[in-house]
Amino acid sequence: MKTLKIAIQKSGRLNEKSVELLKNCGLNFENYKSSLISPVSNFPLEILFLRDDDIPEYVQDGIADLGIVGENVIQETGVDVSYLQRLGFGKCSLKIAVPNTANYQSLSDLNGESIATSYPNILEKFLGENNIKADIRTISGSVEISPGLGLANAIFDIVSTGGTLKSNGLKPFADVMSSEAVLIGRKGSENEDLVKELIQRIQSVLRAKETKYVVLNAPKDNLQTIIDLLPGVKSPSVVPLAEEGWVAIHTVIPERDFWERISKLKEAGAQGIVVMPIEKIIL
Ligand code: ATP
Ligand code: MG
Repeated sequence: MKTLKIAIQKSGRLNEKSVELLKNCGLNFENYKSSLISPVSNFPLEILFLRDDDIPEYVQDGIADLGIVGENVIQETGVDVSYLQRLGFGKCSLKIAVPNTANYQSLSDLNGESIATSYPNILEKFLGENNIKADIRTISGSVEISPGLGLANAIFDIVSTGGTLKSNGLKPFADVMSSEAVLIGRKGSENEDLVKELIQRIQSVLRAKETKYVVLNAPKDNLQTIIDLLPGVKSPSVVPLAEEGWVAIHTVIPERDFWERISKLKEAGAQGIVVMPIEKIIL
């Protein structure tokens, strides 16, 4: 039987969440920092631990069937792979930033300026789309110090909180792209049974993360009002309680909708509201 290979980041910002996701899919493997490859004992899969920059090409070339990597890295490498699933972690945005003292008004003010970045291809495409001719200076790290050193007038880099920009006297100037970790596959891999099975497991874990199992007690008299307050529930389970006139409602709902309705549920007489995490939701 074929063994799939999935490439994930060896260490860095995506490593921990990638490992956690695969473990939550019920995959058993050792996560030794020293090994480059780790077999999964209960699924025909091997995990390759790589630098994130190498993952898109490994997948494109078929050395790995699947990979977990940031969209920014995929776009920068310009590979031809299938996007299989957005994963909801590793979120960040890529922005052009300029010194606080700079007086740029619009994008066209970047014409003729120099911009330092580790993402020259994404930047080149963006500048081209906006008809701007700037000098792109490719450097591999610590991009944010280059304006201070006189290496460039502006930078293009990953920004999450903006703290690094601030401490280097820079301010965001233009949003270019937002990114999150995605599951990619070699072209055509999405038609393979093992890949389908893995994607289904991943989706069931992601779905469960956004959803909670809720149990609450409700007075029978107000049952319909309370059910109407529970979003998206077609038919919750209603179980009689030992106490006359009361029932327990069991249901599964998106967490984000739930919190805003708690006070209304209480007003309608709901009591003993218990919210529980869900491990997996298999459709
Ligand atoms: P490697 O050693 O694997 O090449 P790296 O240093 O290039 O790692 P990391 O800093 O670990 O990369 O970031 C990996 C990915 O995490 C980024 O490409 C991006 O998609 C995502 N990410 C999310 N938030 C941030 C952030 N605040 N700064 C940098 N990357 C972020
Ligand atoms: Mg890298």
